[in-house]
Amino acid sequence: SLPTVFMITPTYARLAQKADLTRLCQTLMHVRNLHWIIVEDSDSKTPLVTRFLKRCRVKSSQLNHTTPAKSLPPKGSHNRTKNRGARQRNVALDWLRETYKPGDVTGVVYFGDDDNTYDIQLFEEMRYTNKVSIWPVGFAGGLKAEGPICENGKVISWHVAWSPGRKFPIDMAGFAVNLDIILTNNNARFDPFGEVGYLEPEFLSNLTTVEELEAKADNCTKVYVWHTQTRKPRVHNEGKVPTSIETKK
Ligand code: UDP
Ligand code: MN
Repeated sequence: SLPTVFMITPTYARLAQKADLTRLCQTLMHVRNLHWIIVEDSDSKTPLVTRFLKRCRVKSSQLNHTTPAKSLPPKGSHNRTKNRGARQRNVALDWLRETYKPGDVTGVVYFGDDDNTYDIQLFEEMRYTNKVSIWPVGFAGGLKAEGPICENGKVISWHVAWSPGRKFPIDMAGFAVNLDIILTNNNARFDPFGEVGYLEPEFLSNLTTVEELEAKADNCTKVYVWHTQTRKPRVHNEGKVPTSIETKK
């Protein structure tokens, strides 16, 4: 049967959260056999996300885990904000290991942030992943697209400008891992204090080698995911008018 795509999405409360999640839900609705694991960066599951998932017609599981303020790197440190989402992804990986035993289901695990843009073809590219598959990511690393250069399904070099010395110079959105690899490797996890840009390389180094990577998206020549970022909405006229439309739900 068709392998399941487990998509792990950390998310946090902010003005544009529901807009971003709505766009993502309505993309994922077009994908078969997808299980969306949403991990809220909060003390408890928020009513907004609970209600949202009830309406979103995608199979989902709602988890939560707060990034403890005390354990954030010191203010001004470079990795203070960049590694947010790391603990939440680990919670989802632990949930997978608690929920499934190797061999239970055929599947693939993907880390998809809530404000990226996804072509639904991306999910068909990753669906059949033996170990770890890889492809380019638009607008990552200060390039129109950053990613591997591939030949005959294998990675031969990298198109990368930022910190090119990294073993796997790839964005979070640029790879997927077979579910059984996650289930049989307890060290498949992210270091919340890892150096900026080294989260992905460290994660992948524990699981595979560059030689083993499976090149997708037409030998890595196509872009099916973009690292778009939602601008903070400007609501400076709020408070100047008496009535308000309910936006908390
Ligand atoms: N995120 C989170 N907690 C935070 C900040 C971000 O859970 O405090 C989530 C966010 O919703 C997204 C992912 O982590 O799914 C990456 O964050 P963001 O998109 O802000 O990072 P960037 O686009 O700058 O890499
Ligand atoms: Mn983002």
